[in-house]
Amino acid sequence: MSLHDHIAARIAAQGPMRIDEYMTTCLLHPTWGYYTTRDPLGAAGDFITAPEISQMFGELIGLSLAQSWLNNGAPTRFTLAELGPGRGTLMADALRACRGVAGFVEAAEVTLVDASPTLRDIQAQTLSDYAVSWINDTEVLPDQPLYLIANEFFDALPIRQFLRDGSGWRERQIGIENNALVFGLGPMQPQPALSARLEDSQQGDLIEVCAAASPFLDAINRRISTRGGMALIIDYGDWHLTGDTFQAIRSHEKVDPLEGPGQADLTAHVDFEALVQAAPDCEHTALVPQGVFLERLGITRRAQALAAKMTGATLENHVAAHRRLTHPSEMGNLFKVMALHQRSSAAPAGFTP
Ligand code: SAH
Repeated sequence: MSLHDHIAARIAAQGPMRIDEYMTTCLLHPTWGYYTTRDPLGAAGDFITAPEISQMFGELIGLSLAQSWLNNGAPTRFTLAELGPGRGTLMADALRACRGVAGFVEAAEVTLVDASPTLRDIQAQTLSDYAVSWINDTEVLPDQPLYLIANEFFDALPIRQFLRDGSGWRERQIGIENNALVFGLGPMQPQPALSARLEDSQQGDLIEVCAAASPFLDAINRRISTRGGMALIIDYGDWHLTGDTFQAIRSHEKVDPLEGPGQADLTAHVDFEALVQAAPDCEHTALVPQGVFLERLGITRRAQALAAKMTGATLENHVAAHRRLTHPSEMGNLFKVMALHQRSSAAPAGFTP
């Protein structure tokens, strides 16, 4: 039995599968799921993320959170949370950089949320110098200030796709033909939850909805609006999306998302407007390109300081990593950064010129 056979049998028994069910099955199936069974990160894996490219990424993110913590009166107990921490590299770099901020690391209750047992084991090793706990549900976050990081997390959450048809919608779904998985369309149906999208879409437009993001934003919204803090969300995507962004990445290449289920990373672009709408009691910053954000936080000065002690191939790799994180033709423009914060607090560092 393979994941393909399992999905084909499920479709044969119960009819076409929605994309959100397909994503959840492919990514998190207990036996064959993509994240459940492997460490996909790094040069030898399927994709590489910013914290794996350079220590500077986690250091600057950590210091930006610590700066907000100072601006908010340096509360002596707070949650330092990360959604989908991967190998734990970002959190380790952040905590190391923040040792210089008196009281910050001592006041932080480090809390991680990750669905992958394989990656949780790696996080435990990476962060073995710190007291860290894992939770499955952000609902249980303590009622205290929350400083949260989500890098390349929301893109991994399952989406649904709807094609506009008159004043209704047809859901894109997955069926089976000659034992191959194929996309199809469900019947035209009204979708009251999409009524706002009738205003700005046309016949044949495709829109994506990520209901799975709501519980996370709900928890963020409540803690931050009442107790203070900030949530830093970094991902590929944009403000207000239309069109098909469902994609599969395997060995650093785009592949067909229906081929080899469980063998490729499945993602969709993040609609930051939808995240903001799900956190209505928080203030949100502008959506800033990652390259601009990191430059404003001082990545060039940090890069120069590190470069002073490097030579040869190490120096070349370091210069290439700086470029990769910030240059508009690399990750600098595709990736966007946005923060949610308490209305009464000033915007965090890096969001205004
Ligand atoms: N933030 C990390 C890893 C990004 S990959 C980095 O920048 O390197 C996405 C991460 O989200 C993985 O750790 C994966 O296990 C986790 N993840 C994916 N879907 C999830 C879900 N539904 N709930 C919790 N964690 C999830």
